[in-house]
Amino acid sequence: MAVPGKKKNIEDISFISFKKKLQKYLNSYQIKKIEKAFDLAKDAHHGQKRQSGENYITHPLDAASYLAEYELDHETIMAAILHDVVEDTDISLEDLEKNFGKKVTELVDGVSKLDKINFNTKEEADAANLRKMILAMSNDIRVLLIKLADRRHNLKTINVLKKAKAKRIARETLEIYAPLALRLGIHNLSTELENLSFQTYYPLRHSILSSNIDKARGNRKLLMNKIQTEVTKKLNSESIKGQTKAREKHAYGIYKKMKSKELKFSQIHDIFGVRIVTDSVDLCYRALGCIHNLYKPIPGRFKDYIAIPKSNGYQSLHTSVLGPHNLPMEFQIRTHDMHKLARSGIAAHWFYKTKSSISKLSREQQWLNNLLDIQKQSGNPTELLGSIKEDLNPGKVYVFSSKGQIIELPKKSTLIDYAYSIHTDLGNKYSSGLVDGEHKPPNTVLKNGQRIIIKKADVSNPDPAWLNFVISVKARTSIRNYLRSIHENDAIRLGEKLLKACLDELQVSIDDVPKKTLEFILSEHKYKTINELYKEIGLGNKIPKLIALRMAPSFKKTESNISYDIEGSEGLVMSYAKCCYPIPGDMIVGYPSQGKGIVVHRSNCKSIRHTKPNDETIDLQWSESVDNNFSTSIMIEVENQRGVLAEISAVVAQSNHNIESVNYVDSRITGHNTMVFVISVKNTNQLKKLLDKLKKIKNVFKAERKKS
Ligand code: MN
Repeated sequence: MAVPGKKKNIEDISFISFKKKLQKYLNSYQIKKIEKAFDLAKDAHHGQKRQSGENYITHPLDAASYLAEYELDHETIMAAILHDVVEDTDISLEDLEKNFGKKVTELVDGVSKLDKINFNTKEEADAANLRKMILAMSNDIRVLLIKLADRRHNLKTINVLKKAKAKRIARETLEIYAPLALRLGIHNLSTELENLSFQTYYPLRHSILSSNIDKARGNRKLLMNKIQTEVTKKLNSESIKGQTKAREKHAYGIYKKMKSKELKFSQIHDIFGVRIVTDSVDLCYRALGCIHNLYKPIPGRFKDYIAIPKSNGYQSLHTSVLGPHNLPMEFQIRTHDMHKLARSGIAAHWFYKTKSSISKLSREQQWLNNLLDIQKQSGNPTELLGSIKEDLNPGKVYVFSSKGQIIELPKKSTLIDYAYSIHTDLGNKYSSGLVDGEHKPPNTVLKNGQRIIIKKADVSNPDPAWLNFVISVKARTSIRNYLRSIHENDAIRLGEKLLKACLDELQVSIDDVPKKTLEFILSEHKYKTINELYKEIGLGNKIPKLIALRMAPSFKKTESNISYDIEGSEGLVMSYAKCCYPIPGDMIVGYPSQGKGIVVHRSNCKSIRHTKPNDETIDLQWSESVDNNFSTSIMIEVENQRGVLAEISAVVAQSNHNIESVNYVDSRITGHNTMVFVISVKNTNQLKKLLDKLKKIKNVFKAERKKS
């Protein structure tokens, strides 16, 4: 309650306790600067209220005060206090830079959202804002720390928001911000964000689980006390100095485990555990010895994260044992330094920016760089958002590189994922892979502890089929990116050939086209180079005949028969219609299809019969040198007899053709047993020979090419 006559209000009081925190680790010059930032923010937000009815300044003050607990530098604290002024008040970035310098301004800019006006939907805006923040934080990780402190206070005061909005924020936190905090090793904050969001997103599950935990805690209290006493006594007798503390898994952690392993609450054994914190690594291992001496260890449940730290730098020994009454429980053993790091992660690194912590930082930096790579290769912000969510949330598998380094990959990663995780170039040039010294196919799923060696080819040649099994975002975006660039080159080549063929038809060479005309046509479509024009033609976005006519208007069209030759090696920009399956020897015609290039049909294909040849149609013919295999479909009528399919397959295989698919046509419709095969052949001659052989099989009544 406000006391009349006294002007001190609540935020002044919280500022005083905030200042006390700062005085523990900052000098008076730095604190003065922070005070200046506070005064400006308070003025700027003057009159603004939080939804809760509190003055707005309570929000940035809470964020700054939280970061001060991690003893973060004064620039971070200032930026935290100022983090909403640009977005929500009249203060501009220029104003900030004038008053507080470039660094603080960059930090504030990093957490400020983009103008809403520029987006159609909330999702689009969210994705673009996340991309902006990722860019800023890869430059300066403190941006993320401020964002996390901001989000923490928003969640703590989330009850006043409308349900739908609160749920959206909680969900985003569970999907992105809590995993980001964990990724950077800030366990405390990650746990707090998770629990706050869990409560909002799944209120019922949260309350049931919490009451279960309370009940279990009551039951176990005596037991935990007993264990603590036993352990302390044992450690003392071995003169191992260490603190023993009972610990409890947090509600969302339990929920995640129940969900991912499909367990009941009663089946979760590590809800309660014991943590031992000692002075040195040596003492950690000795304490482990004591515990295994005292209680029976459960095989396969010991993990040495001291020798092999987790990817976020986390170190500890974990072991599960059978405690009194054969109750399983987990012990975590670590040094004081490891304990501090486990709680504050990268925030601790930032404060102790010493040589030793910089090497630890490199793991996080590596991950951030990875994120930046994905960012660069992703087509749009929404794609990036999806990639990041995936990257943050999968399980992990750990393998060894040829040099013995530990490489962390998402679960179910394959040799190709591994190659791309080492380097994009290694993925693109993958030629073969060895798992524990044995050659394995590229889709081999890797298991913990395997040693991987990748052999490299001289040139890049990623296989589009890899996209069917790769699991990591890095591999997928890299392969797609490479194919996209290949696709582009194919499109340029095809476009050039198509346009030149059309000009040929008009008996003009591209060199005859006046420079002015060419420039005019290019500028009309805003193309910078002739290659862009070729590309658009090759992708089916522009009609080559129309462009040719515009290039050579004064030349008359002659009735020549020159048409474009198909080599069969045009790549992804030329495709063969699945309605009529054209193969060399067939009369064919092409239709440009937006973005997909040219689709080739048989001239007598039913699906195009109603469309008369027009300016869009491209006269095509097979090149004499074409030697590829093409898919085509045949129909075979058989007597329903066992083994006939095997006989057909044998004949196809003996003739060196492949069966790509087989379908049975319902006999109730045809009155016969009919099978439709898709097979690959080089041309109509081969097909005819094959059909003749098939007809000779006993029990085959009819074998013919399928009509469209
Ligand atoms: Mn805020």
